[in-house]
Formats: sequence, C-alpha cells, structure tokens
Amino acid sequence: MVKYNRVLLKLSGESLMGDQQYGIDSQRLNDYAEQIKEIANLGVQVGIVIGGGNIFRGLSGAAKGFDRVKGDSMGMLATVINSLALNSALEAIDCKSCVLTAIRMEPIGEFYAKQKALDYLDKGYVTIFSAGTGNPYFTTDTGSSLRGIEMEADVMLKGTRVDGIYTADPEKDPKASKFESITFDEIYNKNLRIMDLTATTMCKENDLSIIVFDMDTKGNLKKVIEGENIGTLVHN
Ligand code: UDP
Repeated sequence: MVKYNRVLLKLSGESLMGDQQYGIDSQRLNDYAEQIKEIANLGVQVGIVIGGGNIFRGLSGAAKGFDRVKGDSMGMLATVINSLALNSALEAIDCKSCVLTAIRMEPIGEFYAKQKALDYLDKGYVTIFSAGTGNPYFTTDTGSSLRGIEMEADVMLKGTRVDGIYTADPEKDPKASKFESITFDEIYNKNLRIMDLTATTMCKENDLSIIVFDMDTKGNLKKVIEGENIGTLVHN
C-alpha cells in the first residue's frame, strides 16, 4: 500500500556527484533511477526537480566575477543537463519519463505548462521539471515548492545524504539528535535551514508538507512512499 499517490521529489545537483568533485556519477544516477522506477511501478505519480550545484551555481559564479543574472542562467542550464541525464537513465531501464523546461528550448524539452505536466503524470510518465522557476535569484528548492504546489502533490520529498533534520549538523556534532517531525514555525524559530526561506515559506503558505530523508540508501524512496517513518516530516 502506498501512502502518497502524487509526489514531488527534489534531488540536489550535488547528490548526483557521488564521490566525485564535479559532474555526474553514473552509478549514483542509475541508483536514483532504479529507486524512482520502483515507486513509479507502484502507480505513484512522480514529478522531479533536480538542482544544478554539481555543475554551476549563480551565486558562486558571482563571487568569481560573473554577472549574477547570467550566472543564474548558467545554473538553470545546469539543471537541464542533470534532468536530461536522469531522463536518459530512466529510459534506459524502461521507465517512461519526460523533461519539461521552465525556459523555452525545444526540442531539448517541452516548454512547461501545468496542464501538460498533469497529462504526463496521469499517463504514468516520471515528469522532470528542469530550469528551476525560469527566473534568476531563485533556487531549485523554490522551483520544487512551486511545481509541487502547482501539481497538488501530496508531499514534497527532499532526498539528501542525511536521514532527516537534526538539532545540529550531524556530520559535525556527534550529540545532534534527529526530529521525527517538526513544524514550519519551529524551523523558523530554531533557524534550521532545510531549504532557503523562499522555498520553505511557499510550502508553509500552501500547506505542502516536506519529508527530508536519505535518498542515497537504496530502497529508502519506496519506504517513504509506503509511509515508513525514516526521515523528518515538516508540516504546518
Ligand atoms: N537557478 C535560478 N533560478 C531557479 C533555479 C535555479 O537562477 O529558479 C540557478 C541558480 O544559479 C542556482 C543554480 O541554478 O544556484 C542551481 O540550482 P541550485 O543551487 O538550486 O541547485 P542545487 O543546490 O539543488 O544543486
């Protein structure tokens, strides 16, 4: 039995690097594709947003002297590269998938429109939303909040390398403890940064709950879909 019928899965660009310093690790990409196929086969409608931080981020480009808006355009193009890579990995294992772009760039992907995306989801396509929101000064976390809300997803799944939200960074502080669930207000009050504030606020205001979980362990995505409490639930 699945707990969620339509989900928006957010994957960071950095997670695609695996153990590499840059770019896409094909093993990691294939692991993700397998996990995604597993839930698509259960009949779950899956929308995906992938970041671009493994290739380029506008903010770090600006620190090196790039114009911020051009840097953000480069970052959005990086998300398209990652989206095409995942699309290709899914198709290679016979999982129907398509890439929509927030910026017009046919024939690389179809230009995003809500109805088009819903049609693909209804037909069982894993639908990848690329190029973020299509605007500079935003992030793919905000892109995934936006698309998740537009798609009326049951939940946003934020796949990370950590298994939830902690009182402190568990990679630095051994005493850090994990929240099983936490409200958006607590996230603000405790100054916990799971996503940027724009993305968090969009989810709060539109009542889209988020589950932060470890996507790097095979089978975890399916566990989350089946309602197993392996991450941290963020809710109103
Ligand atoms: N970006 C943007 N507008 C958006 C989404 C992304 O300008 O709506 C740019 C921005 O420069 C960002 C980069 O694309 O740094 C890559 O996205 P992000 O940093 O969210 O990727 P992640 O951290 O998830 O890998």
